[in-house]
Amino acid sequence: MPFQQLGLAAPIIQAVKDAGYTEPTPIQTAAIPVVLHRQDLMGIAQTGTGKTAAFVLPILSLIAAAPVQHRGIRALIMVPTRELVVQIEENIRIYARHLPLRVATIFGGVSERPQIRALQHGADLVVATPGRLLDVIRGREASLRSLEFLVLDEADRMLDMGFVPAIRQIVRLLPRQRQTLLFSATLSREVEKLIREFMHNPKLIEIGRRANPAETVTQYLYEVSHHAKPALLSHLLQGDSLHTVLVFSRTKHGADRITRRLESMKIPVATLHSNRSQNQRLRALQDFKDGRVRVLVATDIAARGIDVDGISHVVNYDFPRHPEDYVHRIGRTGRAHAVGEAISFLAPDDFSHLRTLERFLGRGILRRRVEGFTEPHNTAAPHKHTGPRDLSAPAPYRPRRDTMPWRLRRSYQNKNRFPRHA
Ligand code: AMP
Repeated sequence: MPFQQLGLAAPIIQAVKDAGYTEPTPIQTAAIPVVLHRQDLMGIAQTGTGKTAAFVLPILSLIAAAPVQHRGIRALIMVPTRELVVQIEENIRIYARHLPLRVATIFGGVSERPQIRALQHGADLVVATPGRLLDVIRGREASLRSLEFLVLDEADRMLDMGFVPAIRQIVRLLPRQRQTLLFSATLSREVEKLIREFMHNPKLIEIGRRANPAETVTQYLYEVSHHAKPALLSHLLQGDSLHTVLVFSRTKHGADRITRRLESMKIPVATLHSNRSQNQRLRALQDFKDGRVRVLVATDIAARGIDVDGISHVVNYDFPRHPEDYVHRIGRTGRAHAVGEAISFLAPDDFSHLRTLERFLGRGILRRRVEGFTEPHNTAAPHKHTGPRDLSAPAPYRPRRDTMPWRLRRSYQNKNRFPRHA
């Protein structure tokens, strides 16, 4: 079905054409008519399915069709991270380019003043993170009395990050007569609670199997010891088959270590994590988007919602602990209709996470080997005195409590809770 048949206003159809979209993605086909009919909507969709346009296009269309005399905030889009705010704002600017509408952003980590100034100049749409928005409202710098549309994007992430109390306080200040759209990668009990609390008889749209990674992403893994990971990454980055690469590290320090290693190899690289200033993070993302750096090394939180077209490979340098993180990470490649590859490094203490993940996905992940770098983990690890030690490598593997089988863990916990001599 072409965009023309969805009932969108002409300037918006022109804007998506300018953006090079030829036809709507499945979530756009399903969601746009529902929003245009003024119904609340709960969307469950894989990452990279085009869900931003699925809510932005019909909201813009409705706002443009009913101009108001006094400018006020008509649509509020709340998201969990600053990066996502910037990204959605960029999309709105693209989709609203033929409309006389203004968009403002509100997020922490940078000065409040320019953001407040943009609000005072008048904004029809606001994209915000909940914490800073609440500060701005408390300072009476923004009024949400004329709000018509509320969007909660990445609701499951906002729950994880503890934003719900702030969201609740904000929603209490909104007109009851409004349209609410909520998007989430998963439909957990907590998300259902939010739906009951904030929405009115929403239509549920689910695209693809819940939390199933995009079909277009080829996934495989290498079994590799911790100390061989830097060498394996360097090896994979030789040649240019991995041309735009997002590397995930579990920790900020780990991300810095990987970056230093790649810099020493003269590979253009940038880092994205929460110890970096907001400006450094935005610059890193922009350099990556513009192709000035080939590799972006990121942590999960900082990379939430990153939308960069044409990421050819996602590398899980550290294996994710939660299946949802894996799904989110690999969803950064293969976005919309593109294809991509997701490569995971599996260290000996990651096996329990792999089992949980494969159960979650309902399928196994293909194993690959690189001669000389990867070995099945049942072969002996090299003796620590056999060669020069890589000081940047993590400490040798020792079993930890959270990798214990659950039966053992239960008995371990019980033993500690009820001392034998009691
Ligand atoms: P999202 O899931 O909203 O983060 O979108 C993922 C990517 O798909 C973004 O880069 C969009 O620009 C792109 N996109 C969205 N809708 C379409 C479409 N109908 N055709 C082609 N690309 C699209």
